[in-house]
Amino acid sequence: MIKRSLIGLTPEEIRVLAGSSISHAIVIANYLYKRRSNDVALVPDIPKKVKEELSKKSIPGIYGPVASGRSSDGTIKYLFRNESEQEFETVLLTEAKRITVCVSSQSGCRMGCPFCVTGRYGFRGNLSVRDIITQVLGLPASENVTHVVFMGMGEPMDNIENVLKACKILTAEWGLALSKRNITVSTVGITPGIKYFLEESDCNMALSLYSPFPEERYRIIPAEKKYHAHEIIQIMKSYRNSGKRRMSIAYIMISDINDSEKHLEGLKALVTGTGIRINLIPYNPIPSDDNISSSNERMQYFRHELVISGISASIRKSKGIDVSAACGLLASGLQ
Ligand code: SF4
Repeated sequence: MIKRSLIGLTPEEIRVLAGSSISHAIVIANYLYKRRSNDVALVPDIPKKVKEELSKKSIPGIYGPVASGRSSDGTIKYLFRNESEQEFETVLLTEAKRITVCVSSQSGCRMGCPFCVTGRYGFRGNLSVRDIITQVLGLPASENVTHVVFMGMGEPMDNIENVLKACKILTAEWGLALSKRNITVSTVGITPGIKYFLEESDCNMALSLYSPFPEERYRIIPAEKKYHAHEIIQIMKSYRNSGKRRMSIAYIMISDINDSEKHLEGLKALVTGTGIRINLIPYNPIPSDDNISSSNERMQYFRHELVISGISASIRKSKGIDVSAACGLLASGLQ
């Protein structure tokens, strides 16, 4: 019999598997997700019969990374390999008390964005809920994690069922109990997946924009051909949940590509009145690409101009560049 992993299951699914009551299933889920335990025999106050049934049919399922690299700025990149030999990377970012895990939702990616190493790596498969959750539970610092962002390898909306279930486990009381405000799912814009995500989850969402102009954006993000950013922004606006959910746009700034006055005006026109925040991000050049990031001065200018136009904007620092853990660089060390 192939044993199922308990990590990735809800209490209801554990109840069915173990033939237990729902209250016992909740205790088991709590133990697995909060204590990060890989031994069901240690779960207290559960009938022996339930434990025996579980050990016959399941494994706890947490597994750790197979390699890691630490950046000079403290960022750590981890390499995971699942049972199907799919490889994927995870990044741990520490900033004072805020400890963020950047998780992958797929091994590789099929969106083909030319400015991204993961896109060049190709698509190796969707990650299971277990694979996604273990990127948090399997880390040495897992108990201190405060934030999770789906900004690693893959397009989350292309693996939406597993991403939604992972968000549920990350935020449920019986799960890791992280705040929904501390979970962000990032996308290049797959409209059906976005609508489904916004219907089913209260977690934050970020859209990677690159350019406010459809024809230019299409050259950098092929998904624009089918799913248009200006329509997605209107959908995001309509799902803001009275401001409780944070909606943002990630705007990676590339010198002389998307940092002109025309781009600034285009950005303002697209975002004004939507309540969506803009995160300006320096570009991390990928191998064999001659483009460079916009200068710090240019980024400060963009931020200032957006803010005085009434748009919430900030500059995000790039971290982990020396271990290829920064935006767009994941999969650099994979074959
Ligand atoms: S930018 Fe995101 S969606 Fe595009 S290829 Fe890279 S991982 Fe995939």
